[in-house]
Amino acid sequence: MILYLATKNLGKVREINALFAATGIEFVSAAGIMGNVVEDGDTYHKNAFKKAMAVYEQNTNPVVAEDSGLEVDALDGAPGVYSARFASEEEGVNSSDEDNINALLDFIQDTPPPDRTARYVCIFCLMLGGKSLFFEGEVEGTIAMQPAGTSGFGYDPVFIPNGYDKTFSELGDEVKNKISHRAMAVLKLKDYLLDYLISEDQNRK
Ligand code: IMP
Repeated sequence: MILYLATKNLGKVREINALFAATGIEFVSAAGIMGNVVEDGDTYHKNAFKKAMAVYEQNTNPVVAEDSGLEVDALDGAPGVYSARFASEEEGVNSSDEDNINALLDFIQDTPPPDRTARYVCIFCLMLGGKSLFFEGEVEGTIAMQPAGTSGFGYDPVFIPNGYDKTFSELGDEVKNKISHRAMAVLKLKDYLLDYLISEDQNRK
């Protein structure tokens, strides 16, 4: 089964395909058909739905869209849905990972480690057979005092998941793909899609 993934972020396509390895379900990037979607929703659900619709209107294949972000308790949940453009001075324009990390570290420079709690949140929207369904995942952690590590993307160099003393960027993809917010949401999406494939198969017999 091939589904479109409504994202231009190839890091996400890679990460999600690794999580679906050996299932017979594969994601291809819908970058070429989704146009420029303005992610102006004030919730992850609204943004994920908007991205999925932008692709669903163009084709008959099932579509999955994802919206995610980092919620820092010391900032009352910011940057949240604005994570990708946290350091941007232009409305609707994403800022670089490096600028976002620097802005975040500046904002909480006086916050001591015990109060640097945060979580990544991920929401998937699946459009299949005329229905839209949502799947959610979260991972709790803390924000490091300075960046460390090279793998991953976004805020990974400063996010230390609970139960570890290294950032996601230091821990690498193998660990991240087992415990991340995306991995948790993918597990739910995967269960749903595998059940769907089984019932489709039975209907054909
Ligand atoms: P969007 O979901 O593409 O709108 O962007 C979400 C933003 O949240 C990303 O650009 C990153 O800044 C941040 N983010 C979401 N998930 C992750 C992750 O797994 N690692 C690092 N940053 C993330």
